[in-house]
Formats: sequence, C-alpha cells, structure tokens
Amino acid sequence: MNFEKYFMGKIRSVVDKYGVKGRIAVALSGGKDSMAAFHALTKFKFELIPFYIDLGIEEYSKACMEYAKKICDILGYKLQIIKLKDYGIDLSKARKKCSVCGTAKRYLMNKFAFEHDCDYVATGHNLSDALTFAFNNLASVNILNFRGMKPVLPGNKDLKMAGRFKPLFYLKDDECMEYVKMNEIPYCKEKCPYARDAPTIELKEWIHEMERKRNGIMLNFAKSFEKIEEMMTRQQKIRQCSICGYPSYGNICKFCKLRRKYGKI
Ligand code: SF4
Ligand code: ZN
Repeated sequence: MNFEKYFMGKIRSVVDKYGVKGRIAVALSGGKDSMAAFHALTKFKFELIPFYIDLGIEEYSKACMEYAKKICDILGYKLQIIKLKDYGIDLSKARKKCSVCGTAKRYLMNKFAFEHDCDYVATGHNLSDALTFAFNNLASVNILNFRGMKPVLPGNKDLKMAGRFKPLFYLKDDECMEYVKMNEIPYCKEKCPYARDAPTIELKEWIHEMERKRNGIMLNFAKSFEKIEEMMTRQQKIRQCSICGYPSYGNICKFCKLRRKYGKI
C-alpha cells in the first residue's frame, strides 16, 4: 500500500468508527500536525472552518499565524483568529504557563466551535503526543487526565459542548512528518519559547524506541488507553459552568477560574 493511502486510511478508520460528519472547526497551530490534519481533512466531505488562537507569545505566535494563513490561502479557506489577550490573559505573566495555555486553548476551541455551530473541533494531536501525554500522566498519578484519551468525543448542545475529533490519533510523529513533506505543506518549525519539555521529550523517545523493538505497540497502547477512558467517563458527570455556561467537571470551569484570578470577571 502506498503511504498516502495508508495515512488516509488511518484517518478514515477514525471517521468511520465514530461516524464523524458535518461541520468541523479546525484548530490550526501552525505546526506540522494541525497543518497535516487540515490538509488531509479537505479530502473528506466535511464543511471545514479553520481558526487560529493567537496566544500572544511574541514572535512565535506571529510566525505560527503566518503559516496558518499560508495553508488557508493554499487550500482556499479564510482563517479566523481568536486572541487570548481579548480575554485578559497574558501568558508572559502566568506562573504555570503551559497549564494556563492548555486550559485556555481547550476552552476557546470549544467556544469557537460551539458559536460557529460546528459538530466537532478537530485538532492535530497524533499518536506520539497522545501516548506521551498518557504516560506522563501515569508517571505523575494523574489518571483523571485520561478523560478524552480517544480519537473522538461526542458533543452535547445542551452543555454547549462541541465534539472533539483527533484525526491523527492513530498516526505517529514521523508519519505526520512524511505526509507534510510529501504534500509540500508549509509549517512553522519554531518552538514555543515557554516549552519546558525535557521529561516529555525523553518519554516520547522511549515510546518510539519500544515501537522500533516491537512494531505496533504504540497502536496497542492507544487502544488500551481508549478502553480505560471509556470505563472512566461512564462514571464522570459533565455539567454547565455556573458563570459562562460552557461544560465543566466542577461548578465553575477552569477557564472562568483563570479569568477570575486575573480579575477579569
Ligand atoms: Fe502553550 Fe507554549 Fe506551553 Fe505549548 S509550550 S502549552 S504553546 S505555553
Ligand atoms: Zn466558565
């Protein structure tokens, strides 16, 4: 089987297994994975709405946005832009930058998708990222973070919750890179200046090393984590944040807690 067929087949397996269809907001970060996901999704019969969250990380955010615009120009779409600073959050002042950034991105992606009447928000998370995240959480006894460890999560209109769709969930880092190269997709090679990733880089290398020794082990891990996630979410109740009305596991969602901390609400 040629590589393109293999790559698209992995995405199709997610689409078919979960019956993904309709209008999809595509979160572009400017990096290789979200660009590859967007490019590949244009080959399906979806209605795609690409958007970019400007995190306000100086030159890095500007460079990433240029690439997000570039791919939209190439594929004939208009890019929509959300600015984190419009919500009163300045990452340069945050102590735990990645944690604040992660909470904000998750929240704003969902809000964007919901407000644009999308069935799903698609992101560029790939198999290598998903496993690194899962093992990192295992290593720090944060099992609750397994919630969402699957390629598709259904939405719920009553809870203002768009579905989540990770088309690259069964594709490894190097496979996404190969797709990007084959299709000459432009992407931003710069790294976020706040990345403090030494432990996760090692973890990712370890996972890839295991895969080299035992081909297919990464996919098996992902499927196991998917099953664990299903068992966990059966017992978890999502409700509406009492401030903004968007989904939350607690009375107030994490994003509103953040904004409250910054004195914005
Ligand atoms: Fe956000 Fe940068 Fe941290 Fe990634 S590395 S979560 S972009 S602050
Ligand atoms: Zn809220």
